[in-house]
Amino acid sequence: MSGTGSASVARLKERARAAIEGYRERLLDLSEDLQRHPETGFREHRTAAKVAGWFTELELPFESGLSLTGVKARMSGRTQGPTVAVLGELDALVLPRHPLADPETGAAHACGHHAQVASMIGAAIGLAAVRQHLDGDVAFLAVPAEESVELEWRRTRVRAGGLTHLVGKADLLARGAFDDVDMAMLVHTSGQPARLSVGDSHNGSVVKRIVFTGRSSHAGSSPWHGVNALKAAMLAISAIDAQRDTFRDEDAVRVNAVLPHGGDAPTAVPDRAELEVVIRARTLDALRGACAVVDRAARAGAVALGARATVETTLNYLPHHQDPALTELARANGTALFGPDAVAPGRHLGASTDMGDLGAVMPVLHPFTGGATGDAHSVDYLVTDHVLAALEPAVLMAWCVIDLLADGAAGAYDTLARRAARTPGEPDGRPAAERYGDLRAGFDGLTHYDGARDDTGRHDGTHDDTTHGTARGTEGEGEL
Ligand SMILES: [Zn+2]
Ligand SMILES: [Zn+2]
Repeated sequence: MSGTGSASVARLKERARAAIEGYRERLLDLSEDLQRHPETGFREHRTAAKVAGWFTELELPFESGLSLTGVKARMSGRTQGPTVAVLGELDALVLPRHPLADPETGAAHACGHHAQVASMIGAAIGLAAVRQHLDGDVAFLAVPAEESVELEWRRTRVRAGGLTHLVGKADLLARGAFDDVDMAMLVHTSGQPARLSVGDSHNGSVVKRIVFTGRSSHAGSSPWHGVNALKAAMLAISAIDAQRDTFRDEDAVRVNAVLPHGGDAPTAVPDRAELEVVIRARTLDALRGACAVVDRAARAGAVALGARATVETTLNYLPHHQDPALTELARANGTALFGPDAVAPGRHLGASTDMGDLGAVMPVLHPFTGGATGDAHSVDYLVTDHVLAALEPAVLMAWCVIDLLADGAAGAYDTLARRAARTPGEPDGRPAAERYGDLRAGFDGLTHYDGARDDTGRHDGTHDDTTHGTARGTEGEGEL
């Protein structure tokens, strides 16, 4: 090593910041341009093409089309060492009444991901200026589909084999796109007053698509021949609501259901109803408990009406906990960048992110910056300060990477060692894809309940329902 001490780390940081400032107007334009051209998950073709154009300009070798639209570049340092990934999420939500919604698709950047793409490119510009002083590699990854929207469209792709999972980082993990990455970071925008908040955690979440099947009949002349699937679904919703006060406050459980299909016409008894339920909780154990409530409620609706229920369960996001060493690093650099009063401590958030999936297999950092107004995921949410949302996060991430990879990558090795000490047996040398597969095992699956055949009242508690995969996970995951 060339003996770069802290004084020269400070010089590297200034050089990176100056490089980013040199592209100030173009980076702000990029954030604004992407904001005005929102695209939903796994369909971010224009946004991905913009990223590829930047990687080409910066002469970074890259792969595209990862999990349909992901783009991944690699910047090698002067020596081999750990690889730090800087991420930018590509996707928008579906909010047709958002002021900047695409009039044709209804897509809208109501979570500010456009700014993340600009901050990732900005970090690449900053780090390119100091790469000959880094003892490890930086991967720049534009990741598709963080948001859970258009799930049926995605399920069609999963069934056809084009995707493995419904959200981007999960799919990338399963495909091995993070097998050559040791730790990862992104900066997310928010509407909060603080310029930076560091160390927040997020709920994990599970999606259940519950299809109730009954029997149609004339609603006027022979309703007694029918089995009303809509009523079964309504009872399931009531059964979920009846159990809300059994959820512990500290588990931050959220259960939200919509009824995308409740019948075709009021003149016929509905023979099919479809419920889509998102279940969230702070730990995997709490998530399992809340899933069991929803499964019982689905079964109760089917039993009461003599209908059938098919529950398709998909683990959507693992609970998200940031790495303490990376959090300390972001706090120190955020304080240097914004001043001590501008950095807020982390909180637990009821929302979810697929950064949780990544955080289950490697150290991750996910601070929130300001720069937006309104509530995330609402028609009011708008990034209005692209300097705070895109430019300053680029500097923050570049500085964190310099701290991790300068001086023989001592910072990165220390982060990995501290994580290994906290999680005995991990990472155990196996690729991220394999370890991630183990964590998911037992969550995804299909369960069938046949209300017409339910005999739990007459016998010893056993029933004929069939299950393929269960909502059980492996022991000990609740500590993640
Ligand atoms: Zn979001
Ligand atoms: Zn987001």
